Amino acid sequence: MSTPTEAPTEAQVRSEIREWLAKNWDPDLSLLDWRTRLADAGWAAPQWPKEWYGRGYPHNLVRVVQEELAAVGAVGPASSGVRMLAAATLLEHGSDAQKKKYLRRILTGEDTWCQFFSEPGSGSDLAGATTKAELKGDFWIVNGQKVWTTSAHHADHGLLVARTDWDAPKHDGLSFFVIDVRQPGVDVQPLRQMNGHASFNQVFFTDAKVPKENLVGKLNDGWKVAMTTLMHERRGADGLMPPVKKGRKEGRIHAEERAENDKANEPYRWYPQRAGRVDLIIERAKETGANKDPYIRQEIAKLMIFAKSAEWTARRARAAQQQGRPQGPEGSLGKLAASHVARGCARVHTLMTGTDAMLTGKESPREGVIAEILVSVPAVSIAGGTDEIQRNIIAERVLQLPKEPRFDTGPFRNIRRN
Ligand SMILES: Cc1cc2nc3c(=O)[nH]c(=O)nc-3n(C[C@H](O)[C@H](O)[C@H](O)COP(=O)(O)OP(=O)(O)OC[C@H]3O[C@@H](n4cnc5c(N)ncnc54)[C@H](O)[C@@H]3O)c2cc1C
Repeated sequence: MSTPTEAPTEAQVRSEIREWLAKNWDPDLSLLDWRTRLADAGWAAPQWPKEWYGRGYPHNLVRVVQEELAAVGAVGPASSGVRMLAAATLLEHGSDAQKKKYLRRILTGEDTWCQFFSEPGSGSDLAGATTKAELKGDFWIVNGQKVWTTSAHHADHGLLVARTDWDAPKHDGLSFFVIDVRQPGVDVQPLRQMNGHASFNQVFFTDAKVPKENLVGKLNDGWKVAMTTLMHERRGADGLMPPVKKGRKEGRIHAEERAENDKANEPYRWYPQRAGRVDLIIERAKETGANKDPYIRQEIAKLMIFAKSAEWTARRARAAQQQGRPQGPEGSLGKLAASHVARGCARVHTLMTGTDAMLTGKESPREGVIAEILVSVPAVSIAGGTDEIQRNIIAERVLQLPKEPRFDTGPFRNIRRN
């Protein structure tokens, strides 16, 4: 990243991108042509390094670029799903060949990604993964099972954590790979959740092949690489939602973007409900008359105070991160606070709606949204590290309390599992 002294001024950036947009933005281009222009000019991810489709800009200049794109109604880079986690991981640990092969296609939306971390016997205990990769000739041969894999059913590539050394201690025998999901030997089976959606999959690997050059980082250093992915995932799980784009824009590019979003966002359609829909609380209080109930009013006030302070804490953490400052304790608190808010919302929505909160379908409260909240919020307390795991992290790393006793040292082969 460029240092602030090397960076251009805000006015220079505005003038440069305005001039570029005047020559290049055309809503009748294909989405791919437009995003290719955007990526090649370094405007798609201006915070990325100059040699990798970016401009090394600090956060304040990235915001300027986004404002200028929005001002002319221009479409941004593809950013849904796991692709940005893949990009962050490859930017930090990938080889030049990997960056060249994948980064541009991430921005243009040509490839979609998923994350093969959790297994039936290792979710919280990610370092206990038993899916194995063995080197045979020029390929790693992968066997094992992953589960909870969001979007694997339409992913091109997966970020895979697999065991490559069974005699090393558990964190030291893992490696990190990019695996082609659309190959024989990768069997993706969708799982249906209690909210009716099928966003996750269980995935079976039977002699699936990974070219040697798809190892990310060093052999048996996969834990470190996976931590980069998880750190970026948890930063994005603080409950701060991106602004909703309003209005239906005309032109080929917008139609293609809508079609892409409909497909890519299908597994995430219930995610607003999973966050608890704090934005609906006041409206629902007025709609149901709960604002006149003295007990429920107190519950609403408690929830809104917590939600607001959690939002401000998350904003402080984001601001620190964007200015390149180390995250303080607020970074660890963000995800836990988001899950507390989600569960609080489910409770208050139920108090306000009563037994009708269990109804779904067109005639039910908010056409089923309230019921969907109830059966979706438990996910926030699990995805990307459970509440208990977040509490352990806060206890050990923020409060410096003694560490949990460990029974999993020594060669992984000898550790008792399941
Ligand atoms: C919406 C959603 C999307 C997801 N998407 C993906 C994905 O795309 N890719 C992927 O790889 N995974 C994904 N996951 C999986 C997720 O990362 C795991 O579910 C999570 O890490 C917990 O693992 P587990 O389900 O195996 O629970 P377990 O680890 O079996 O935990 C069970 C219970 O034990 C508790 N527990 C475990 N260890 C400890 C401990 N040391 N101290 C105290 N309590 C403990 C847990 O808190 C939990 O309550 C997703 C999950 C959800 C809900």
